[in-house]
Amino acid sequence: MHTKSSARHFEPQQHDRVDLSVVVPLYNEREVLPLLIERLAQVLTPLAISYELVLVDDGSRDGSGDILVALAAHDPHIKAVRLSRNFGKEAALSAGMDLSSGDAVVILDADLQDPPELIGAMLEAFYAGSDIVCMKRSTRAGESWGKRLSAHLFYRILNRISHFAIPEDTGDFRLMSRRAVNALNNLPERNRYMKGLFAWVGFPTHVIEYDREVRAAGSTKWNFFGLMGLAFEGITSFSVAPLRLAISFGMLAALAGAAFGLKIVLDALWHGNAVSGYPSLIAVITFLGGVQLLSIGVVGEYVGKTYLEAKQRPLYVLRDVVQSPRALNPTDAAQEAAAHEQTH
Ligand code: UDP
Ligand code: MG
Repeated sequence: MHTKSSARHFEPQQHDRVDLSVVVPLYNEREVLPLLIERLAQVLTPLAISYELVLVDDGSRDGSGDILVALAAHDPHIKAVRLSRNFGKEAALSAGMDLSSGDAVVILDADLQDPPELIGAMLEAFYAGSDIVCMKRSTRAGESWGKRLSAHLFYRILNRISHFAIPEDTGDFRLMSRRAVNALNNLPERNRYMKGLFAWVGFPTHVIEYDREVRAAGSTKWNFFGLMGLAFEGITSFSVAPLRLAISFGMLAALAGAAFGLKIVLDALWHGNAVSGYPSLIAVITFLGGVQLLSIGVVGEYVGKTYLEAKQRPLYVLRDVVQSPRALNPTDAAQEAAAHEQTH
């Protein structure tokens, strides 16, 4: 077994540099896998560049990993990366980017919701000088409005409280230059909220709008709680605003409590009113109890994050990386043909 060293460096060998790496995280995507590879080949072959497909199996349970390895044995463009278990999309992406060697790296979902046909346009923007080419969804076909609304609200909140803009409606579908990928790969944190990290890294960015398609096959890997978790993760990874919110809540509650107490005392002194205690007491206690628990929870979230970071565990564990040994790219192939000619 092969674990990543703590120094987060992967320097690709000179000979396996390619023009473009396409990184795809996969989790239980057996149904779309052949379709994905076919569509990618259709798009990439006419571009006449050297490329590799870094397909990362994130511990799939439907045999996607084995299919991947079998495909890699026949197609020298495919680098089949298998993780030791399911680490989550963000970790799978990190693995793919670490193992990519392209001058440009495109990240793509396996389910063909991000149309590979756009890679040509992305490369054009890259060659025109952008380090990052962000793909912005102008429509979200096949997504419930609940998901759309919550996504919209989430970006609003996130951008309010973080110090750099995280573009709305851009997913992980993007192109990045080698230096942007290296910058990202060298970020030390284990808690990888990718959208935030992409934005944090910076670099000249070009935005292309596209229509997000419906899933080609299979089903979404996200559910409501998963998305809520990701949203909370996103916010707490990039901002301490919730901690401040807890402080403001606490101050408000304390002020309200003090005012209420003062009112009771004055009432008793001036009007001789008996303290009509029980219901108001319960109301105040439950309110304060709630605020306290909430605040402790928020603090706990950050303490937990610090704890996880402090453990310095690798982001993922590789099971294996399989690539056909005769991985030729067009330029190598041309050189080889020339050499062959000379010897004859
Ligand atoms: N994915 C992954 N690991 C996971 C969950 C998802 O690698 O634990 C991959 C999945 O195979 C797909 C991409 O992440 O390529 C996006 O997942 P999905 O389509 O389910 O998300 P959605 O498009 O619904 O947001
Ligand atoms: Mg999808």
